[in-house]
Amino acid sequence: MLIYLFIYLFQDSHLRHILVQPIIHELRDDGAKTIPIWPWFVFLAGGMGCLASSTLSHLLACHSKPFNLFFWRLDYAGISLMIVCSFYAPIYYVFYCNPYIRTFYLTSISVLGVLAIITLLAPSLSSRHLRPYRASLFLCMGFSGVIPAVHTLATHYDHPHVVVALGYELLMAILYTTGAVFYVTRIPERWKPGAFDIAGHSHQIFHVFVVLGALAHTLATLLVMEFRQGSPTCNTQHCQ
Ligand SMILES: [Zn+2]
Repeated sequence: MLIYLFIYLFQDSHLRHILVQPIIHELRDDGAKTIPIWPWFVFLAGGMGCLASSTLSHLLACHSKPFNLFFWRLDYAGISLMIVCSFYAPIYYVFYCNPYIRTFYLTSISVLGVLAIITLLAPSLSSRHLRPYRASLFLCMGFSGVIPAVHTLATHYDHPHVVVALGYELLMAILYTTGAVFYVTRIPERWKPGAFDIAGHSHQIFHVFVVLGALAHTLATLLVMEFRQGSPTCNTQHCQ
């Protein structure tokens, strides 16, 4: 249903032509060089990994107590994986001509992501007294996106594709935050316990917002790819 909503919302927009462009070819039909596409596949793999681990978790968590604890940890680790993989494509394409900055940002988020996933999966690190450590780890992951976003705005403010992409990234942040608010506040089941055990539970709403956030990020990434595809070599007006 979400996919149909997505198609309906954007079928007549300026984004439509981006979705049908042959962005996955290394060479165009005329033999000219185009951009590498592996960062786009990193994002797709992260998104699919997230949805696969959520599906497995919700399907199998009822098996037994030990499996229950493992699969709920896997559920959140999958979302962390998608967040980390989401960073790759925009940072790679925006800082395409600045390999040192690009490597620094991608290495930083990768290290943070590996730490976050190990923390979420390790039973010894899931105790209550380490909760501030886990919370600060996620805050670092989230806020580490603000630094490259401000950097991008400062260096690419005159490129409309990039500015609109940043708008979609802001929408993604709002959607993720809204999902987290439902998750933390336990709305709506806190108002009527038991009434939302089958449908409408805060955890379900939380997952819907994660998917919507991923769709907003998909649009942002396609816009940045469109921007960079206009200049697959450095030393041009797109090169900062
Ligand atoms: Zn879940």
